Amino acid sequence: MLDGIREAVRKFLGGNASYEVAVEEFIKDLQKSLISSDVQVKLVFSLTNKIKERLKKETPPSSIGRREWFIKVVYDELSGLFGGDKEPNVNPGSIPWVIMLVGVQGTGKTTTAGKLAYFYKRKGYKVALVGADVYRPAALEQLQQIGKQINVPVYGEPGEKDAVGIAKRGVDKFLSERYELVIVDTAGRHGYGEEVKLLEEMKEIYEKIKPNEVILVIDASLGQKAYDLAKRFHEASNVGSIIITKMDGTAKGGGALSAVVATGAPIKFIGIGEKIDELEVFNPRRFVARILG
Ligand code: GDP
Repeated sequence: MLDGIREAVRKFLGGNASYEVAVEEFIKDLQKSLISSDVQVKLVFSLTNKIKERLKKETPPSSIGRREWFIKVVYDELSGLFGGDKEPNVNPGSIPWVIMLVGVQGTGKTTTAGKLAYFYKRKGYKVALVGADVYRPAALEQLQQIGKQINVPVYGEPGEKDAVGIAKRGVDKFLSERYELVIVDTAGRHGYGEEVKLLEEMKEIYEKIKPNEVILVIDASLGQKAYDLAKRFHEASNVGSIIITKMDGTAKGGGALSAVVATGAPIKFIGIGEKIDELEVFNPRRFVARILG
């Protein structure tokens, strides 16, 4: 992912060009690499402008060389975009806690619902799942299988098409049974060109179940579309956090950055495989370190 940046860092630290020329070159390489990794152009320029500002205003401490210092500035600014130093807080803000998952079909929403249930169950919470994806026929079955595997109850109404009703009845049932964490899987897409309907339904579910947290699930390979998509989901359901799936693949992942900016929501987890335990708490520093090499 973002291999171009790693290469640019190597060139910058090892090159013969004067510092000023090397900085200019590095910034150009950084821009190119971010843009080709599907980070929004506007965002790329605001990032590199910030880096340039800091170069003008700050003087490197005497303890490190100025090239190393410059890379540290780049590292800081990139990590800042992903949430800075801290790992996100993934604990439920209160009990009970209702999570609604939203995102486009095929991104791994249902799989992620199962992974989250497993993650929180292992932390000791009493967890339940609600399957409200009524458009993909296999979604409920898939969720029920996962539920069985991890011993977590799944609410669903096979054959019922009223996603809002299912979500509401499922959440009510589990809350009345004193479940601490209820995770609701929703539909990805009705069909091409029907996103408007989907977003309306999303909004209705959101208003009906009043979740404590809406998590947008996006695929690392989403690319330039991530910004608009995240924005639209955010408008429909007030996205509070983000999970990036398929980080184990070859995707460049820059779209994730755009989704963060579009929603103002932090990335909380990353999916790193198809298996139930292949979910990691997102670590911004580690993520950026991986980018910079
Ligand atoms: P949904 O339509 O959004 O509910 O998507 P699914 O949960 O059915 O997932 C679609 C495909 O992506 C399935 O084959 C999953 O196994 C796969 N998948 C989900 N998350 C990950 C991940 O983090 N890494 C990889 N490699 N595959 C994933």
